[in-house]
Amino acid sequence: MFTIKDHLEVRNDHLMIGGADTTELAQKYGTPLYVTNESRVIENFSEYTKAFPDADIYYAAKANGSFAILRMLAREGAGADVFSYGELYMALLAGIPRGKILFNGNSKTDFELRKAVELGVKVSVDSRDELHTLSEIAEKAGKTAEIAFRVNPDVSPKTHPKISTGLSSSKFGIPSKEVVGIYREASQLPGISPCGIHCHIGSQILETAPFVEATQKMMDLVEKVTGAGIDLEFVDMGSGLGIPYKKGEDTPKPRDLADAILPVFDERTEELGISPKLILEPGRYIIADTTILLTKVNTVKKAARNFVGVDAGFNLLIRPAMYESYHYVVVANKVASKPEETYTIVGPICETGDILAEDRELPRVEKGDIIALLDAGAYGFSMSSQYNGRPRCAEILVNDGNSDVIRSAEDVGDLMGKQKLPARLM
Ligand SMILES: *Cc1c(COP(=O)(O)O)cnc(C)c1O
Repeated sequence: MFTIKDHLEVRNDHLMIGGADTTELAQKYGTPLYVTNESRVIENFSEYTKAFPDADIYYAAKANGSFAILRMLAREGAGADVFSYGELYMALLAGIPRGKILFNGNSKTDFELRKAVELGVKVSVDSRDELHTLSEIAEKAGKTAEIAFRVNPDVSPKTHPKISTGLSSSKFGIPSKEVVGIYREASQLPGISPCGIHCHIGSQILETAPFVEATQKMMDLVEKVTGAGIDLEFVDMGSGLGIPYKKGEDTPKPRDLADAILPVFDERTEELGISPKLILEPGRYIIADTTILLTKVNTVKKAARNFVGVDAGFNLLIRPAMYESYHYVVVANKVASKPEETYTIVGPICETGDILAEDRELPRVEKGDIIALLDAGAYGFSMSSQYNGRPRCAEILVNDGNSDVIRSAEDVGDLMGKQKLPARLM
């Protein structure tokens, strides 16, 4: 039997997703096309809720903030980690309760802080400056802002430097040494109720050890903050659990993460005689493997390498260019055929770095073939752009063989967007 990744099937040499034939989807909706398998989103989310039955799971909206995705997760009981007023707006619109939203960010605008106060969502405060601004805003509004501090536990997550966020050199968080002092300060300020603590050490982390270290360091801080008389109602450990982008890669699951960190969390909270809520903020794990990007072959060229030119580039999937990320690639209309040649898949963007996948063994590729980039759900569409005058593509959701458009493709009209001409240029 030919297998790709465990949740993707093959039928008649065609890649299937959620019971739908990808070549038919490409035909029906056109390419490029993001395709998400609805049931896989629910499965991934429930892996988390089963592994952490007592925790609240706040989906990291930045991984894929599309409305239908947020709505599905809202219906499953997810909260949200939001990083901007835009993400907050979308999360609330999707029905995520305000009590289960944490507003994160290292450089929030005053407008964003006012919105957070007005809408009554918790704020993860990242600096002393922000603390004082928030206090003034909340006091003026006659409200109390429930806050956590984003702390920097100084843990090396052994991942790509651009997605390491908990090193002492990172721009995120309050340095460990200053944590107790800032909680004391916050407890004296009007309009502020310090009631949680928050960290996030990075992303695409492939072992549990850094999470255990982060939990230990966070619990050391919890002990000190509690000792200073602050009542912590929640401990938010952020996220970062990676997924197996490479075939056969063995990576920890939510269950393994739970087995690794819950004993530390439970033992330390029991010792302290406190029972804060544990919060986790998975993004990638929930959405990455649910989604593929279908892209059509425009040209095949033998030059320095065997180049396959497709209709999606880093305008739609920037991860390979930005993080040197690996996405598993198949020819969707020849999935089970024998590999014959080594190809490098490149996009249509006017940049040498517009490479989606390098040196892949694939069946013979021809113009018109459909290439599928797997595991494209996280930081895929959400990081897309119109660079090079390319309208963004559609997103569809498949479920039991049926498909629905959840975002229509843009067209060139959308390139004008909100642009205007000064009268003298008319
Ligand atoms: C990006 C981010 C997440 C999600 O990380 P993943 O690795 O995608 O699970 C969670 N929390 C915070 C604060 C983040 O910045």
